[in-house]
Amino acid sequence: MYDVAIIGGGHNGLVCAAYLAAAGRKVVVLEQRAVVGGAAVTEEFFPGFRNSVAAYTVSLLNPKIIRDLDLATHGLRVVERPIANFLPLDDGRYIKVGGGRTKQEVAKFSARDAARLDDYHARLDAVADVLRALVLETPPNVVEGHPLAALAQLIATGRLARRLRRLGLDRQRDLIDLFTNSAGGYLDGWFESAPIKAAYGFDGIVGNYASPYMPGSAYVLLHHCFGEVNGRRGVWGHAMGGMGAITQAMAKSATTRGADIRLSAPVREVVIENGCAVGARLDGGEVVRASAVAANVNPKLLYLNLVDAAALPAGFRERIEQYRCGSGTFRMNVALAELPDFSALPGRDLAEHHAAGIIMAPSLAYMEQAYADARAFGWSRRPIVELVIGSAMDDTLAPPGRHVASLFCQHVAPQLPNGSSWDDQREQVADLMIATVDRYAPNFSRAILGRQIFTPLDLERTFGLVGGDIFHGALDLGQLFSARPLLGHADYRGPIAGLYMCGAGTHPGGGVTGAPGHNAAREVLRDFRRGRLRRAN
Ligand SMILES: Cc1cc2nc3c(=O)[nH]c(=O)nc-3n(C[C@H](O)[C@H](O)[C@H](O)COP(=O)(O)OP(=O)(O)OC[C@H]3O[C@@H](n4cnc5c(N)ncnc54)[C@H](O)[C@@H]3O)c2cc1C
Repeated sequence: MYDVAIIGGGHNGLVCAAYLAAAGRKVVVLEQRAVVGGAAVTEEFFPGFRNSVAAYTVSLLNPKIIRDLDLATHGLRVVERPIANFLPLDDGRYIKVGGGRTKQEVAKFSARDAARLDDYHARLDAVADVLRALVLETPPNVVEGHPLAALAQLIATGRLARRLRRLGLDRQRDLIDLFTNSAGGYLDGWFESAPIKAAYGFDGIVGNYASPYMPGSAYVLLHHCFGEVNGRRGVWGHAMGGMGAITQAMAKSATTRGADIRLSAPVREVVIENGCAVGARLDGGEVVRASAVAANVNPKLLYLNLVDAAALPAGFRERIEQYRCGSGTFRMNVALAELPDFSALPGRDLAEHHAAGIIMAPSLAYMEQAYADARAFGWSRRPIVELVIGSAMDDTLAPPGRHVASLFCQHVAPQLPNGSSWDDQREQVADLMIATVDRYAPNFSRAILGRQIFTPLDLERTFGLVGGDIFHGALDLGQLFSARPLLGHADYRGPIAGLYMCGAGTHPGGGVTGAPGHNAAREVLRDFRRGRLRRAN
């Protein structure tokens, strides 16, 4: 008998477990795979070659969580990329972003854009600071019933309103803009040259099955800016040993504090008695009993697959069926005999651009067309590829002289048109992604020794990501903050007593942040303190 059973050992499940165990609760994590970490894992995908096989770069991981869980003591070391991004362009030129040289690089294309960069960053950072301050808070929740219950939420909303008022009218306008505008519309308002708009606009479509000109994509851009690496805000880095180093450190932190972790323990259903969640039934039939259950899985997977429909209030299940999932992401890992030799910046010897996020999508118009293609045909004829060569910063991943690379590719339709299956298109689309890199670095395909492919269907089958959604639900305005995953359930509690949500389908959403796990643990502990949950012993 446990105090809390956690379904899923993704990074948020592990963070939740570590906080609950640190507070003296008896916790078990039930993970279906043979390894913890969910989408943040390092695996050998080809003999001798290891990589972060799904999530591949770190920034959003909250510094308080890194400290509280002693992740550095448990082996985590994150290093900053020498430059943030490198974009080879179709006309043979390139742009580098970050490393203190953005202004000089942008000036190659537009002196006006270069002069506007400082202001752009200052204003974006001011809004990102607001988001940063909110990620570890439970959003104000919309509640029905007794006015006293609503009072606490009203106070929370008032506190939030006061905080926003302190921003001043101008920054509030920026905030509205970033929450409602498209990334393209927002960037067009700032800049005139295509390369810098492509470099920044890429963040607006990462994991977002959308054109950069679709309203709401500016929020996704902002979402990718609230992180930091070793205290440097807005920067992205590499976890030495790959993303699995993060989740292995989290697992050690949780077990050191007393949590149990069971691997290869797929949960078939949440056990509900008298309207309360009292445990989890595993695939083999074993029941793990607990005073509370916290689900690290996508809310759609939880409420449609793991909870008896009869236990849910009328209308709730229908809303969850409408919860929007699907990222447009196709993910590959490749083992390389040598580094890519870019026509725009020749050389096979390790250089700083090899250690950047290499974006092959030279303009917002290119990205818009990529989305339109995927809507019409199932995938982009000219896809967007970000290539990250982990071994350029980390020699633990590949044999000496060899390399590993992640390809994060967009757009592909979560479900193919005309009833076609991803199982039939996997290799063909993988070849297209490789050919896309070849256009900019012609030695790329020749250098490939082995490859691993995840279509949206593979992401769902392997990691439980519904529709291949990397964020456990689209980051639409209608599915954010007090509305994530659903209005009335933004406080990590669902409609069933004792059943909590602790994954990326809750505020503040996807990415390797640890924040949903942190916040859910706080709410579970609050219910133990209030006597709504009873300790197991
Ligand atoms: C291809 C890809 C690339 C990404 N790139 C980045 C990136 O570079 N940087 C970044 O910050 N974020 C990235 N993300 C997003 C980020 O990885 C996710 O949003 C985040 O991992 C979600 O964490 P989580 O713990 O909430 O859920 P998950 O990581 O999805 O973990 C959920 C866990 O639940 C388990 N599970 C599911 N069903 C059951 C069941 N029935 N019984 C038991 N266990 C179950 C799963 O196996 C999994 O371990 C990426 C994601 C993907 C897929």
